[in-house]
Amino acid sequence: MHSPWERTAAAVGLLDATGSPQPTIFTEMSTLAQTTGAINLGQGFPDEDGPVEVLEAARQAISDGVNQYSPGLGLPALREAIAAHQRRFYDIDVDPDRNVLVTAGATEALAATLLALVEPGDEVVVLEPTYDSYTAIIALAQGRLVPVPLRAPDFQPDPDDLRAAVTDRTRIILLNTPHNPTGTVLDAAFLDLAIELAEHHDALVVTDEVYEHLTFDGVRHIPAASRPGAENRVITISSAGKTFSTTGWKIGWLIASPELRDAVLAVKQFLTFVNGAPLQPAIATGLALPDGYFIGAAATLEHKRDLLVNGLRTAGFAVTVPSGAYYVVADGDNLGITDAHAFCHSLPDLAGVVGIPLTAFVHPDRREDYRTLVRFAFCKREGILEEAASRLAGLRV
Ligand code: PMP
Ligand code: GLN
Repeated sequence: MHSPWERTAAAVGLLDATGSPQPTIFTEMSTLAQTTGAINLGQGFPDEDGPVEVLEAARQAISDGVNQYSPGLGLPALREAIAAHQRRFYDIDVDPDRNVLVTAGATEALAATLLALVEPGDEVVVLEPTYDSYTAIIALAQGRLVPVPLRAPDFQPDPDDLRAAVTDRTRIILLNTPHNPTGTVLDAAFLDLAIELAEHHDALVVTDEVYEHLTFDGVRHIPAASRPGAENRVITISSAGKTFSTTGWKIGWLIASPELRDAVLAVKQFLTFVNGAPLQPAIATGLALPDGYFIGAAATLEHKRDLLVNGLRTAGFAVTVPSGAYYVVADGDNLGITDAHAFCHSLPDLAGVVGIPLTAFVHPDRREDYRTLVRFAFCKREGILEEAASRLAGLRV
């Protein structure tokens, strides 16, 4: 018998030899950057503030006295802004009172969804590499993780792998698009297949769309909820953190049918009850910014992506150019890297840079194909990325 924390820590490979839980890979690598003074391209967070309108709206809300518990579903102004955003960008109908729930970031939305809907032994199909909190929450819910691999170098899912993974034991197909860590943006055909399989096996599709506005080269984000058959079967999760460079605010949301939304609410209300009141009108302001803001944010990031991709190529890495999110995966096979985790620990000494080993997102039994791969974040100021590129150019493993 294992306690929930032991099960969770073991599932994400975070128990050390003595059985003690370890910090997440993001904490581990940000600590490494701090202690060595290396440039932190590990944990994904921007090093600049987002739009002034959003920051100012939060200050104003505090001054206006929006400082007590918000309503259980989230402030109406934010729920209305979320509904208007889905209509404006994706032509999806959302009722702010019946379909929306504001959460403590996407992380709480994911946790409450899985805890509400997964019975012990139920299977949850995920893309692998897998964002670490999915693995942990599936373990907490006593579900079974069933991976669909994204293989280098293009990291596109194979529809046959999805067909093989989804069975009558599947409760949830949990997708992430744009995908962390690979930058893959799922196309309509793959989303349609997921919905069709979910229908056939009486499962649900949950999509994590936190990077929805960060896509490049004309590739567009497609919400699963915009596809045929999505009604009553798709739960959409997103967050303000990436879109408005407010990762520390932890304002996220979930959109679902009233029945599913209420099932998740039943759990969420006892996790955090409600979330940061004055930040909610501020995010409502952000969601209503003109199209130019969203287009500009993606264009700026695309330029930063190109800067880092070129720098990594000059340094000798083979690089897969991501279509979305703010990470690039670099293959150091040519450079003689054989163990990405060990390499990432020596990289501050070798080049004064920190990255995240892709193996951290893969089950220990399936890491072989990922052991030469490192994720670098490009949501940093241009000068920082240029400095990182010039340091990496001199890299000798
Ligand atoms: N999902 C993915 C794919 C992420 O990369 C992150 C990290 N920011 C989250 C969820 C968590 O989002 P939040 O900070 O809003 O909880
Ligand atoms: N989502 C960010 C990343 O993947 C940070 C996550 C975290 O620190 N938990 O780097």
